[in-house]
Amino acid sequence: MVTASPHRPDGRPAPARQATLGESLRRNGVSRRGFLKFCAATASMMALPPSMAPAIAAALESARRPSVIWLSFQECTGCTESLTRSFSPTVENLILDTISLDYHHTLQAAAGDAAEHAREAAMHANAGEYLVVVDGSLPGPGANPGYSTIAGISNYDMLMETVADAAAVIAVGSCAAFGGLPKASPNPSGAVAVQDLVKDKPVINVSGCPPLPMVITGVLAQYLTFGKLPELDQYNRPLAFFGQSIHDRCYRRPFYDKGLFAETFDDEGAKKGWCLYRLGCKGPMTYNACATMKWNGGTSWPVEAGAPCLGCSEPDFWDAGGFYDALSVPPGNSGDMLLAAGAAGVAVGAGVGLLARSQAKGAAKQHQTVTAEELEQKL
Ligand code: SF4
Ligand code: SF4
Repeated sequence: MVTASPHRPDGRPAPARQATLGESLRRNGVSRRGFLKFCAATASMMALPPSMAPAIAAALESARRPSVIWLSFQECTGCTESLTRSFSPTVENLILDTISLDYHHTLQAAAGDAAEHAREAAMHANAGEYLVVVDGSLPGPGANPGYSTIAGISNYDMLMETVADAAAVIAVGSCAAFGGLPKASPNPSGAVAVQDLVKDKPVINVSGCPPLPMVITGVLAQYLTFGKLPELDQYNRPLAFFGQSIHDRCYRRPFYDKGLFAETFDDEGAKKGWCLYRLGCKGPMTYNACATMKWNGGTSWPVEAGAPCLGCSEPDFWDAGGFYDALSVPPGNSGDMLLAAGAAGVAVGAGVGLLARSQAKGAAKQHQTVTAEELEQKL
């Protein structure tokens, strides 16, 4: 639904009147109950108090499409795959449909000059208001710019030109957030992360290889809802999704606390679902929401499928040693105890368990939820 729109005070044409998210959802057959369920889940994911859920519902209902320019640099397309393979039809998909993806190398139909003109037109029409999403790292200013180009423009020039008038930048995936695989030693292309180059705009890192699709849409939902960007952790990741470690929320945690570890992928311990720490699980030093949000529409996640967490959402995970080598000195506040856990097993494992349990208890205390039924009564 698009209606004619007047000009802005500075003479630039205002963007055409787009359908609100509520209108768009109704047009696509999403029930009010389904929408409220999404709002309740979003409030819960963001660890917001239940009293905020009606505000989320009201704001999302009337939210309009922000313009998004999506740049793909040195990447494998896994991040876009993650997003577009998210279960459909879902409200998350529709939120993605609701944003105006004015330029996306992989998804757009336009090519060549037409595609570049679309990017320039979106930047011009939405100056100061559009979001730039980046997946992939890029050769830094000291590297040969010819290592990665699009339409004859180096990745570096395209990024700096595109972010100049952006409201914020979302670095999707561990390559954009931290450099990822292209930056792994010996880093032949001189790859750097987006935040290494963009210093005068907010940069939100949604790390993961690939990132959870719900986290990408969750950040967009928060922006649509509150018109502002989420609270971030020390690596500029949204705290609501990266505030707790995989280990804090892992269902195998009771086995860790008892010192019961699988030693091989097919021993009795593995069959009984014991902890995968000694098979290289990086869950204790990895912050992500896989253990609670899971993958493939909430079906399962790597540790549930019997594979250790590889630590894919942490900086430089490709260079952090063998995927299946047990951690010896993990970073973070439980590092010393885990070092001892490798040697002493049960007793120290229980010590870390106590620490993590007290942290988890604190988090759970603040983390109340609201149901769709309660929301229906309030709205
Ligand atoms: S070490 Fe890995 S498998 Fe074991 S409890 Fe922690 S996250 Fe789960
Ligand atoms: S379980 Fe670990 S390695 Fe697997 S996707 Fe989640 S954070 Fe990445």
